[in-house]
Amino acid sequence: MSLNITREQILKLPKTDLHMHLDGSVRAKTIVELAKEQKVNLVAEAKALGIPGVVSGTAEELEEKVFKHEYNSLMEYLVPFELVNCVLRNTESLEEVAYRIACDEFNEGVRYFEMRFAPQKHWSKTLGWEDIIKSIDKGLRRAMDEFNSKDDVKLHGGLPYRCGMILCAMRMIMPGMGDYYKTLYELHTGDHLQNLAIMASEEIAKLAVSSMKKGYLVVGFDLAGREDGFPANVHKEAFEYCYNNGVHTTCHAGEAYGPESIMGAIKYCHVRRIGHGTQLFQWEKMQRKNPDGTEMTKDQKIEYMNQTAERMARERTTVEVCLKSNSQTLPSLRNLELHPVKDFLKYGLRVAISTDNRVISRVTVTDEYMSLMKICDIDAKGLRNICLAGFKGAFFPGTYAQHREYMRRAIDFYDECYKKNVLGQ
Ligand SMILES: [Zn+2]
Repeated sequence: MSLNITREQILKLPKTDLHMHLDGSVRAKTIVELAKEQKVNLVAEAKALGIPGVVSGTAEELEEKVFKHEYNSLMEYLVPFELVNCVLRNTESLEEVAYRIACDEFNEGVRYFEMRFAPQKHWSKTLGWEDIIKSIDKGLRRAMDEFNSKDDVKLHGGLPYRCGMILCAMRMIMPGMGDYYKTLYELHTGDHLQNLAIMASEEIAKLAVSSMKKGYLVVGFDLAGREDGFPANVHKEAFEYCYNNGVHTTCHAGEAYGPESIMGAIKYCHVRRIGHGTQLFQWEKMQRKNPDGTEMTKDQKIEYMNQTAERMARERTTVEVCLKSNSQTLPSLRNLELHPVKDFLKYGLRVAISTDNRVISRVTVTDEYMSLMKICDIDAKGLRNICLAGFKGAFFPGTYAQHREYMRRAIDFYDECYKKNVLGQ
């Protein structure tokens, strides 16, 4: 029977957030404050981006007109990121935003998270690669130091607050996405779009490795952005460079189309995790052909899909599941009852509940757990497995032995919190 658990009780359990974008998680109030400091006119920026209804630029207005509960399309969902990025192009704002998001996560019981961002969206001629990484690292460390000096962590054996950073490269790039992309276009006029995206992703892979070696909290590399028509395997070199130099890899895959996108990421990109993976079981949408160029039959497609899921289960590939975001960007998942997370769990896949975009999706990790409990039949053991799956799937800054030790503490801490807050013992 499904566990009867309240929101208050979920809040008190230790959780993780492995898939969370920095620019999708900045509170409206913070954006307004930063815009004021930097003299950015949010009304004019919103107008230029074609976002209707922003006339005063207040936090309340942004919450109502920009960060919606429902979006009509993926395109509409992506526009607010551009507005947020207008105020994230200096060291102070990046540090402050990273710190505030880390506080928001901690305050709802998250004990480990990974913040992902595309450095190329923040880069400018006055804001270099290391400035970006250093600022976000500083903000995250400030939050960790603050919370880890509290008595319940320091004196009573509580679970320390830890986090990492994931650098995102983009499958598709456009000059309007920021100064870096614009400059790249100008320097390589006439070059094929995909070649520019490949150059850009290789640069991020190098940045991820060098940042990790310098001791920043960088733990992973990710490929994000428009999936359909922009396969992950063309970015093979970037993934391989990370894989061979100790940076973990994940990839947004199976969000827009079928199992072959996921299999491509596993086979060619060495990913240990998959972002979303929502179309894993959609064999009908497969576009792949047989090696001899003939169309695949229905049975062949189903076999390919099963092989993909089986491989993920066997290799303990973690699926970063973001329910609310999926329901906002995929019209077929408006009704969350239809979300494949139930099948992921049935198949024995490791599922890590994540927010994707705390503010743009108007969601918290706790909300995601509440939704999950509503649509799936989860008992106490199942809930424990899911909460701990995030700690297991973490890329974790540190050695394998340190990750194992942290895992052990997370398990003990979960059991202790569950006993105290859910069973009342
Ligand atoms: Zn994402």
